[in-house]
Amino acid sequence: MKALVYTGIKQLELKDVPEPSSDFIIKVLGCGICGTDLKTYQKGHHLFSPPAILGHEFYGLVEKAPIGCGYLAGDKVVVAPYAECGFCDVCMRGAGSLCANKHYVEGGAFCEKVGIASDYIEQGVFHIKELDDVYTLVEPLACVLNGFEQLDLKPTSRALVVGAGPMGALFALLFRAKGIPVAVVEPSAQRRERIASWGIEAFEPGGADHVESLSAGRVEKGIYDIAIIAVNKKELVSEYIKFVADAGTVLMFSGLSSDEIVAIDAYSIHYRQVSLKGSFGYALHHFKEALSLIEAHKEMFSKIITHNFPLERGKEAFEMLASGEALKIVLRP
Ligand SMILES: [Zn+2]
Ligand SMILES: [Zn+2]
Repeated sequence: MKALVYTGIKQLELKDVPEPSSDFIIKVLGCGICGTDLKTYQKGHHLFSPPAILGHEFYGLVEKAPIGCGYLAGDKVVVAPYAECGFCDVCMRGAGSLCANKHYVEGGAFCEKVGIASDYIEQGVFHIKELDDVYTLVEPLACVLNGFEQLDLKPTSRALVVGAGPMGALFALLFRAKGIPVAVVEPSAQRRERIASWGIEAFEPGGADHVESLSAGRVEKGIYDIAIIAVNKKELVSEYIKFVADAGTVLMFSGLSSDEIVAIDAYSIHYRQVSLKGSFGYALHHFKEALSLIEAHKEMFSKIITHNFPLERGKEAFEMLASGEALKIVLRP
């Protein structure tokens, strides 16, 4: 079968690779390019040493299934790329996204077929209603829902999303779907225009004071009690801890490496009771909730997908994503 193989930094090649040998085979119809895939392509990743097939946000058709597994050939499905064990201490504390015994789908989905281990079918494979690229968003939306769960949302909450990449955009749409007033701060004019065209306020950043002066009574310091940092720049965390309202919460959603130190404004944490939270990945209940949200608001979430490319033009798609021109790109084998 054809696969887009990551063969080294800035290298992706379409190659013929052996088909998976599993009893449960999914014919991939679409797979989204995730920030992690892009980072791997640009800088390498300790979890993916080349040669490797990347891609984990996929949906497709069951091609082959063992009898009695609940699926038949031809069924439309989406797959959770990993599932928590459900039994370890961390899982018992309700933080399944941090489980150390996660079960992963073996191999990536930037290829024609993915094999699923028989003991993973019940846990990680889900029926979907139709074949649509929007299902590639279930996993990223699941990660956003995990972030949501960390927030102490009140009926009066107002949210500010920092960064309008695909994850920031998903946060913005989700806040709106939940009836929470939301605005977005984003330096790229193109991305601001896109967000604004959805009827969501989008502002140019320039430091918290600048945002304050832009306010015209709307984006004022202390107005937002929720700030989502959806850009991997530690300076933004320091900045928005000062910016967020008293008793508010700043969520570090974007990943920062272990050697990065974030400067904390002690006054805000102690005297203003601002909380700093983080979130990483998803647990299965987030994946299930994301799937129902996608099915309920298909058209709304489809806005996140701006492009699709055939698998053989994968490298071009990665370059386009790196340029910031696209939001979410789906590769179709
Ligand atoms: Zn992802
Ligand atoms: Zn666990």
